[in-house]
Amino acid sequence: MSEILVLVEHVDGEVKKVTLELLTLARSLGTPAAVWAGPGITADAKAKLAEYGADKIYVAGSGDVVDHVVAPKAELLAQLVADRSPAAVLVAATAEGKEVAGRLAVKTDSGVITDAVGLREGFVADQSIFGGGVNVQSRVRRGTPIVAVRPNSTAPEAAAGAGAEEEVTVSLSDGARAARIVERVKQEKGARPELTEAAIVVSGGRGVGSAENFAVIEALADSLGGAVGASRAATDAQWYPHQFQVGQTGKTVSPQLYIAAGISGAIQHRAGMQTAKNIVAINKDPEAPIFELADYGVVGDLNQVVPQLTEEINKRK
Ligand SMILES: Cc1cc2nc3c(=O)[nH]c(=O)nc-3n(C[C@H](O)[C@H](O)[C@H](O)COP(=O)(O)OP(=O)(O)OC[C@H]3O[C@@H](n4cnc5c(N)ncnc54)[C@H](O)[C@@H]3O)c2cc1C
Repeated sequence: MSEILVLVEHVDGEVKKVTLELLTLARSLGTPAAVWAGPGITADAKAKLAEYGADKIYVAGSGDVVDHVVAPKAELLAQLVADRSPAAVLVAATAEGKEVAGRLAVKTDSGVITDAVGLREGFVADQSIFGGGVNVQSRVRRGTPIVAVRPNSTAPEAAAGAGAEEEVTVSLSDGARAARIVERVKQEKGARPELTEAAIVVSGGRGVGSAENFAVIEALADSLGGAVGASRAATDAQWYPHQFQVGQTGKTVSPQLYIAAGISGAIQHRAGMQTAKNIVAINKDPEAPIFELADYGVVGDLNQVVPQLTEEINKRK
């Protein structure tokens, strides 16, 4: 079966969950080959990649590959596409992944699909487009299919691959080195999962009423081991930081479970969450548009419903 390249997302030597999802998806369409960019691959990381089906692990361990923003990663993948003629290249549909995908498409004269939420035989991708208003199936017709897949689109499943490591030396162009990262500041990470990667997201909107009251949303998220999100109304009011905004001008999430509390369901909010597998809405207005989208709806005051829900979940632990 043809090789499918998967660009590995990693932090501090740890493979991110989205990569395991991409390997799982790649396995259903060909032979997955992981591509590790930068130094710091660990034995644990290699074992994880193999555990989820990587037949090969291409390691471009030079610091240069990660010290010049995203351009070198696109050149690394372009070199592998030229050398190995893979059937497709999969990246995570993160801001960085999508930029890598776009650059790679130009370099390899290939078509690119971003924000795919599924990928089937013949590399037919499911996409949710126009702010989430329309679902389409798309297929790349030119070159090597390059597909950026949203986190949480596939459940990761282990199935061992050979995990054979192969070192790759990439010759970067001057253009790829034009910008250099001069400092990295680590953002303090709380105990909660990263918003775009979380399997469960609990979001609050204007109905939460205040910054202090977001504690109610956080408590429910914590009881479920989920991440916290917010509508733009809530972030604009400075009740919750902007980096947690879900929607067209915020983050796109595709969790297994999305709970929207005190959120009306404006089209711009839906654009960031409507591919969630299960949507629960809690709103005191039975006519709120979010109920059109929700799998389960609770009509009620979130100040009563959410704490009761949290208590019930905590009791069952
Ligand atoms: C270009 C553009 C981009 C945008 N991008 C985004 C985006 O990325 N993300 C985003 O979210 N929005 C975005 N918006 C804004 C969007 O149009 C809405 O204004 C916003 O989503 C509304 O947020 P909300 O649902 O929290 O507030 P509202 O629409 O005011 O809804 C609040 C809801 O809370 C309910 N409620 C009130 N009190 C309670 C209570 N005690 N218990 C239960 N329910 C209660 C109300 O019934 C109501 O349905 C964008 C707008 C534009 C023009």
